[in-house]
Amino acid sequence: MRCGFCLPACPTFRETGIEAESPRGRIALMKAVADGILDPDEAFETQMNHCLGCRACEPACPADVKYGQLLEQARDSVERHTTTHRRWVKAARRTAFDGLFPHQNRMRLLGGALMLYQRTGLRKLARGAGLMKLFPAHMREMEAILPDASYKGVAEQIGAFHPAKGERIATVGLFRGCIMDVLFTETNKHTVELLNEAGFDVVIPESQNCCGALHAHSGEQDGAKALAKRNIAAFKAAGVEWIVSNAGGCGALLVEYDHLLHDDPQWADDAAWFAKRAVDVSKLLVEHGRLRAAAQAAVAAGAGSVVGGATAAPNGGHAAESGGCGGSCSGGVGFASGEQVRITYQDSCHLRNVMRSSDAPRKLMRSVANAEFVELFEAERCCGSAGIYNLTEPRMAGQILDHKMEHVRRTDAHYLLTSNPGCLLQMKHGIEKHGMSGQMKAVHLVDFLHERMCGKDA
Ligand code: SF4
Ligand code: SF4
Repeated sequence: MRCGFCLPACPTFRETGIEAESPRGRIALMKAVADGILDPDEAFETQMNHCLGCRACEPACPADVKYGQLLEQARDSVERHTTTHRRWVKAARRTAFDGLFPHQNRMRLLGGALMLYQRTGLRKLARGAGLMKLFPAHMREMEAILPDASYKGVAEQIGAFHPAKGERIATVGLFRGCIMDVLFTETNKHTVELLNEAGFDVVIPESQNCCGALHAHSGEQDGAKALAKRNIAAFKAAGVEWIVSNAGGCGALLVEYDHLLHDDPQWADDAAWFAKRAVDVSKLLVEHGRLRAAAQAAVAAGAGSVVGGATAAPNGGHAAESGGCGGSCSGGVGFASGEQVRITYQDSCHLRNVMRSSDAPRKLMRSVANAEFVELFEAERCCGSAGIYNLTEPRMAGQILDHKMEHVRRTDAHYLLTSNPGCLLQMKHGIEKHGMSGQMKAVHLVDFLHERMCGKDA
């Protein structure tokens, strides 16, 4: 089929209007390579690299074409056949993919080094001496918005087991992520607290490692498979009923471990076991968690209506008018503390298009008392972060971000929430770049919910 329904959903096609920059065009190129009509040469590689991998084309496709899986195979093929890579790209990838991400202790060392740089005078010194000017502008901009790093991950800080408050609903394993655990350790801690409050025992298996998403998206399938096997073994041994992720980019690969390992007879069954249990924290809270009465009512109230390109919550935005607890301030998680604010949300592409979870985060946001949820126009459209795309394709990423920020500005929100570390950094960058830091803050949804959680200081 070449219907083209996917074209309007594709950010790179919308930016350029060029067929080769669309899903249909890229699939045609892949087919030409598979049929031996085209070599997987530099031009082919460039076209594959221009794709964000956001997978917005998949939900739009009536034929259910698994574009993401085709893309990963195409990148794997480029990786195996190309001789055009600059040597430093290969060396840098090798160092990061083999020597760093798979080793959580090395990631923590990196976190420690970053922490030293950020908290001693080194950062000021580097900036003062003009050293940052040696780096391209987009890298300098990203350095400026990096959160505080940590040399201790979530388990090192708070321990590996956390019992549920009240009656236990299930035992879940926290997928802590590699970058997430050194740059967003607080978000991991907040995830544990939210889950405990909602009735889940939380285990953080020590031997888990990086999900392998960066490997898979860069055509390093063997590396991704090796990491997947270690994660499957770690969570199986922990005896958990769910595997919870708070990063859309990681979660999207976790739910596809069954596909990644489908042709490995030794691992296929365990991979299917794992993929079925991997879930985003929002979805687990909404569908299986113990929510307080008012939060339940707000979640049950459902979606809002579109108002001039933006969507308002059904009751005008105030999901739980009576302070959020609805008279019942115990028995589950609820969100009622804090002052009146306006919030909006940028979808994580992988959470929305691969994990197919766009309702659950919105339901949770609407359950927060004193928070008016305003739908961001084209929230489902990629922000340009896309893993390391904003570093490898800064021009296109910048263009996409600029369009995104025009819509963000119109929401007039105090908080711009999202559910993936890459999107969060990109949103922080967008806020700075567009001079909105005085009026708006980008925050992970989990951190916002935790800040608003009833009785967390009790
Ligand atoms: S993954 Fe995203 S950028 Fe790539 S073809 Fe699909 S919609 Fe376009
Ligand atoms: S990928 Fe799907 S939506 Fe796009 S042209 Fe092919 S069949 Fe149509």
